[in-house]
Amino acid sequence: MDNCIFCKIIKKEIPANKLYEDEHVLAFHDIHPAAPVHFLLIPKLHVDSLADVDDNHQNLLGRMLILAPRLAKEQGCAEGFRTIINTGRIGGQEVFHLHIHIIGGHQRLPGMIHQE
Ligand code: 5GP
Ligand code: ZN
Repeated sequence: MDNCIFCKIIKKEIPANKLYEDEHVLAFHDIHPAAPVHFLLIPKLHVDSLADVDDNHQNLLGRMLILAPRLAKEQGCAEGFRTIINTGRIGGQEVFHLHIHIIGGHQRLPGMIHQE
């Protein structure tokens, strides 16, 4: 996808603070961290969002979920972390290339959704 910022990171057209890469996925630190640990895990295959996955993505999604706790632990999240996948407009997704946020740190994270 020509105009996708995460595809540009994959192609090394724009820099990112990378922490893991293999044939299928890339992980890099979020540019605006919400906690001491905040990185993004993305597939190298461009998929707009979680709303766009199908059976063909089964292996890829499995890989990402299995990798998430390993990378979180390597980043110091021994006592837990939060995974978030914002999806679509209502989900607050800003970058339309599927990504898992992995967020953690030293203190318990705040509650996720505040009812107004
Ligand atoms: P979303 O709201 O789509 O789930 O989250 C997108 C995330 O990508 C945000 O947390 C934002 O800070 C991060 N982000 C956006 N552009 C860049 C970038 O160019 N580099 C990095 N490292 N993170 C980015
Ligand atoms: Zn993309």
